[in-house]
Amino acid sequence: MKVLDGKALAATIKDELKADVDAIRQAGGKIPHLAAVLVGEDPASQVYVRNKVRSCEEVGFRSTLVRRPATITQEELLKVVHELNDDPDIDGFIVQLPLPGHLDEEAVNLAIHPHKDVDGFTPVNVGKMTLGLDCYLPATPNGIMVMLERYGIETSGKEVVVLGRSNIVGTPMTILLSRKSDPGNATVTICHSRTKNLADHCRRADILVAAIGIPEMVTADMVKEGAVIIDVGINRVDDSSKSRGYRLAGDVDYDAVSEKVSAITPVPGGVGPMTIVSLMMNTLKASKTK
Ligand code: NAD
Repeated sequence: MKVLDGKALAATIKDELKADVDAIRQAGGKIPHLAAVLVGEDPASQVYVRNKVRSCEEVGFRSTLVRRPATITQEELLKVVHELNDDPDIDGFIVQLPLPGHLDEEAVNLAIHPHKDVDGFTPVNVGKMTLGLDCYLPATPNGIMVMLERYGIETSGKEVVVLGRSNIVGTPMTILLSRKSDPGNATVTICHSRTKNLADHCRRADILVAAIGIPEMVTADMVKEGAVIIDVGINRVDDSSKSRGYRLAGDVDYDAVSEKVSAITPVPGGVGPMTIVSLMMNTLKASKTK
């Protein structure tokens, strides 16, 4: 069984990005600049944003963290988005989700200029992705595609089952894996909360991508011998033995499932770090396509 080590692979890709940035600097070009908007005090969001900003610094990007209180109004937040759209120094930016309940995430997403949408969530980029055109691919699915490619995992002709149909993970994952591309060319089934006989679908999968948000829901009896398991879930599970009072768990019962499969991503240290490098790859691209 091979552990698909996203942390190590992300470190390799960061070295490559750093070399790119060094070359840009030597040529007197523009250093990539990512901005991240963080609204409120959600602990998980703070960790994610901190990791994104730190990763930018590691490879020599510039980064700007725009913090706003949870009490911000929709109009004030849209003003922040418009300012970032108009700022020529910012190559790309993200608005960390989820936003506090009184804010309209869809309206905020629609306000982001597609050229600066390094999360790949706006309709223009989603549409281009679906048509196979050049665009900013959504960070988590693209991070998974890069991981499959770099680990040499064959997807062509394989049965892929994706659990979850969110706009940011499950749905784009199905599009990318079914495209006529490499990786891609897979036969993809998408499962969700209304799917009947979920376990039966899972057991057919050569490659199973779990993006549900339910800790350790995928158990060993649900996976095929020798399958490849991509666990996107990041869930906090109470654990009094940890000083912080919780542990992180994926959507897959790692210990039992890893006994049976050919390759699996750990949580943490699997898909998460790949999401961050994918965002940085998009930011580098944004800085070059001015
Ligand atoms: P979401 O809540 O938007 O979507 C969950 C999906 O799971 C839905 O489509 C729903 O239909 C499906 N679902 C829910 N219960 C189900 C069930 N019992 N059976 C089958 N399907 C069911 O979640 P999301 O934003 O796609 O995130 C999913 C998980 O991935 C979360 O744990 C999240 O924290 C994690 N995540 C990780 C990364 C990363 O970088 N590793 C990035 C994004 C999300």
